[in-house]
Amino acid sequence: MRNKLSIVVAAGCLVLAACSSTDPGLSISRSLSLVSRGPDASVPGTTTASAPSTQTDANDAKVDFGTNRTPKEYDSYLNNVVADIQDFWRAEYPKVYDEPYREFSGGFFAMYPSRSDDVEACGEKLPFDEIADNARYFSCGDLIAWDDDKLLPDLAAQLGTSAVATVIAHEFGHAIQQRSGVLDLQQPTVVTEQQADCFAGAWSAHAARGESSLVTFTDAEVKAGLAAMVLVRDPLDPTIGETVFEEGGHGTAFDRVGAFQHGFIGGAQACKPLIDTPLPLINLTFTSTDDIANQGNMPYSDLQASVTDDLKRFWSATFTTNQRTFEAPTVIAYNQDGPYPTCDGVTPAQWRSNVVYCPSINLIAYDNDFAINLYSSYGDFSIGYLLSNAWSDAVQTQLNSTLESENRALMNDCLTGVWTKDIVPIGSQSQPFAISPGDLDEVITTALIIDDITGRPPAASAFDRISSFRTGVLDGLGACTKRLAAD
Ligand SMILES: [Zn+2]
Repeated sequence: MRNKLSIVVAAGCLVLAACSSTDPGLSISRSLSLVSRGPDASVPGTTTASAPSTQTDANDAKVDFGTNRTPKEYDSYLNNVVADIQDFWRAEYPKVYDEPYREFSGGFFAMYPSRSDDVEACGEKLPFDEIADNARYFSCGDLIAWDDDKLLPDLAAQLGTSAVATVIAHEFGHAIQQRSGVLDLQQPTVVTEQQADCFAGAWSAHAARGESSLVTFTDAEVKAGLAAMVLVRDPLDPTIGETVFEEGGHGTAFDRVGAFQHGFIGGAQACKPLIDTPLPLINLTFTSTDDIANQGNMPYSDLQASVTDDLKRFWSATFTTNQRTFEAPTVIAYNQDGPYPTCDGVTPAQWRSNVVYCPSINLIAYDNDFAINLYSSYGDFSIGYLLSNAWSDAVQTQLNSTLESENRALMNDCLTGVWTKDIVPIGSQSQPFAISPGDLDEVITTALIIDDITGRPPAASAFDRISSFRTGVLDGLGACTKRLAAD
């Protein structure tokens, strides 16, 4: 985040100084209930769950683990994943593309430096270096190869095996694009990547619906798949002008998770049109040398005042537009071990590692130690997001919202998205406050990890919180009320 106003004020102080000595976040189950409602004209491709498949197909291409390899924990899981992904596309491809599915011919290859037998793509030996830290589909040879030395073991260790499955499902999405002719269209990489992420989401929903006896995803495993979208991507370096539209760019976590969710909710049919009509992409760039120098992170000491000033600006104006008056909450910080503020109904355990809105006294209070930890681990907008969610609760209170528990939490995420939409840089000097590259991804990451960090039961699933936040960012206030009213 950056605060243009503070830069202007600082410049003013310098002038004065010369004259005087003055110095100054749909739980998965909710998504599945959407999907399992049956075919829905507004959500193309949704179908009721079919009976689980119980056998691998004789035509299945298998995982080639090669020689000189120590077996890994995820090997049999991986065999099930590749079998199930092929089952899924055998059934889905003819429905989506209205033509027969062509069997996957080249195979799945685990790559590692000590692999002694050659893997060939198109008659050429595939060196490990070409795959290191990556997973790739090769259209010439129709094969998928991955770094089995570091990438997959690290993902499995950090996030669990479902993250591994999500990566393979994404790569298989490119094999589907080869079959549908999309790879011949020379589309920007970010467009083909978006569709591959969407396909990975469609397959993950099938696993989460329990349609396969080979692979079943729990809510936590779908969340790990989302986390894999955040971790396995090409980092962009906007300081040298790289953007999401760059060749080879996989897009931001915000965009990638959105594409995954689009497929998860709408199925493979909903992914088909993304080549001609991609989902919106938000391309944030650094606009000042100061912003580049600090990677878009404002000093922690400025954070609370800058965020709350801007929330006050935005919501006061929004209320005024609607002929209402907004009473801005007071915002204070407290130490993790107390003393804590007094608020009816908030227990000592709830103050720890939390940002709390107290409606009876219109107060937002946050654990300063917790906030510093999030700031240093995940960036400034991690705190911006949590402060805004508490602020959004004040907004709901003053609008006499009757939403409770999960729906209320999701509305807070959506309203935070609405505010965030207003601070996407528009290249105008009149915009006092703006987000920086990486800030949207900081929200995605925070939504994914926050419940694990606090240890409290989630108010809503990470999947739904992210989906709600995206709705606010992309479609604004009307979409938040419409979406939650429809639930
Ligand atoms: Zn890809």
